[in-house]
Amino acid sequence: MLCAKEQLISERLPLLRQLLNPCRLCPRNCGVDRLHDKQGFCRIGGQIRVASWAQHRGEEPPISGSHGSGAIFASGCTLGCFFCQNFPFSQLGNGQLMSADELGAIYSRLARNGIHNLNFVTPTHVLPMLLEAWLCSDERAKALPLVYNCSGYESAEVIDLLDGIVDIWLPDIKYSQNSVAAELSNVSDYVEVNRRTLRKMWDQVGLLQVDPTTGIASRGMIIRHLVLPQGLAGSADSLLWLRQEFGADVFLSVMSQYFPAYKAFEHPIMSRSLEPEEYIAVLDLIEELGFTNVWAQDPTERGGA
Ligand code: SF4
Repeated sequence: MLCAKEQLISERLPLLRQLLNPCRLCPRNCGVDRLHDKQGFCRIGGQIRVASWAQHRGEEPPISGSHGSGAIFASGCTLGCFFCQNFPFSQLGNGQLMSADELGAIYSRLARNGIHNLNFVTPTHVLPMLLEAWLCSDERAKALPLVYNCSGYESAEVIDLLDGIVDIWLPDIKYSQNSVAAELSNVSDYVEVNRRTLRKMWDQVGLLQVDPTTGIASRGMIIRHLVLPQGLAGSADSLLWLRQEFGADVFLSVMSQYFPAYKAFEHPIMSRSLEPEEYIAVLDLIEELGFTNVWAQDPTERGGA
């Protein structure tokens, strides 16, 4: 007998596959025929390219726990961040083409190793392929919470189709100004799309639910924000919006780890790392706004994603 999630994925996979031609899996709406291996902005055709997979221990504590999160890193991306620290696979497409059976076997292997959840990283442009692989995985993998670790630039239709399938939404809030998003990530409508996306995710799952004994999350939302040099991420505006929209108890993960990578050395501001005082100013605002559930990093931490 199919479990509830398996039933939902089986029903919605054909609808998600339809979004591959013309491709409108993400708000870019490139309109190419991905089913016949045409590529749009994300530079991925009809088959998933997997950059790596890992029993990842570097996520937030309720995600990584003691045994790690089963992270699947997909190649390609719907954004074009010129400072991306993962650029060899997000922007340059490094990775290995994989069938659903092969990828499903990886989910199963990770599950046997004791991971706390399956974690799809930058998944949207290859979502049908990731879910097809899920159907090929074993019962142990299928019983795990599903984490959707994304840029927060998502189509409303796709988020609706994932209702009841994704257990933990892990989106970014990257910018609060479209002009900056356009310059740094080659996207013209990030702010309104991102805010609509976060609201929809919140409506589906609400506050993070963590097992008091194990400390592991089973459902809910964690919002990530990477602070950028010279206020380019618009942290203050984003924090004010989050406080107003979701209240003080929403779970936030605020990161200081920016360092220049890929083409960032060519930019007058992004060519340097974040200064500790820039990060501390954001933490001060978080305190002032009364947020209660925040993961912060060491302000002096630099490099390493
Ligand atoms: S998933 Fe890729 S091809 Fe499809 S609309 Fe988005 S960027 Fe374009």
